[in-house]
Amino acid sequence: MAENDNMTCQYQTGRTLGRGNFAVVKEAVHIKTGQYFACKVISKKLMEGRENMVRTEISVLSKISSGHRNVVTLHDYFETANNVYLCFDLCTGGQLLQRVCSRGKFHEPDAANLVKKICGAIEYIHKCGIIHRDLKPENLLFDSPADDAEIMIADFGLSRVVEEDKFHAIIEVCGTPGYIAPEVYQQRGHGPAVDIWALGIITYYLLSGYIPFNRASTSKQLYDNTMGGFYAFEPERYWVNVSDAGKGFIRRCLTVDPESRPGAGVLGSDEWLDGKKHFVPDKT
Ligand code: ADP
Ligand code: MG
Repeated sequence: MAENDNMTCQYQTGRTLGRGNFAVVKEAVHIKTGQYFACKVISKKLMEGRENMVRTEISVLSKISSGHRNVVTLHDYFETANNVYLCFDLCTGGQLLQRVCSRGKFHEPDAANLVKKICGAIEYIHKCGIIHRDLKPENLLFDSPADDAEIMIADFGLSRVVEEDKFHAIIEVCGTPGYIAPEVYQQRGHGPAVDIWALGIITYYLLSGYIPFNRASTSKQLYDNTMGGFYAFEPERYWVNVSDAGKGFIRRCLTVDPESRPGAGVLGSDEWLDGKKHFVPDKT
């Protein structure tokens, strides 16, 4: 334990950057080098019975860190008697959620630019045999406050490492209401396609400022709408500046049948992402 305490002594923690379900993330400076990090402090007590989640998060991050510019990098991890600490590159630009809340919805070219990057990062993690399973605007971070900051996929706390033929083995219902794919509810096994469904929800959110399957509705309504793929680009006034190509991209992601839902590689070449089909305002 002495050695571990020594490790925590190497960092001085500062302000809180964010909170999730099981962790608080703090700014931390490495005392020797003066370098800043984001330190995810996971309480062992809160994780009791779910210790495998932290182990998975660390092993997934070790596998993919530094492999893609749009995935957060884990630098260091250690534990004390009470906590597990994960030290990441500091993303100073906050969550995508906060950016949408503060500036409102994104114009199509900006949204497509972000979605293309997220899609590329999803393709990368899927190629590594990893499913994120909790993609949402709270888990997408900007590396700086600049308008053209890089977007980073964070929070691999619910992720799973899978071999292609073992998708049927993952049957637990997990994720965040409003972002959960139909096949997850069905509990007959799910795979990487759940991340594509979430990408569809994120794209819808970016373009409108709200999500298609309303979290405020009852869980029965949410379930029925998700299972049936019942959503609309409404109220119309929020969608007049969005091209058919943008709506088409969302529809492809929100294909109810996971077998027919395109993979990240295929979606990466969608016409909407290359920016040629965006809505152009009338000059009159
Ligand atoms: P949880 O698994 O509990 O949801 P997250 O990994 O999502 O934990 O972290 C919670 C919040 O902390 C994030 O939504 C974000 O606001 C902040 N955060 C996480 N990682 C970083 C980072 N590398 N840089 C800056 N803030 C971060
Ligand atoms: Mg989170």
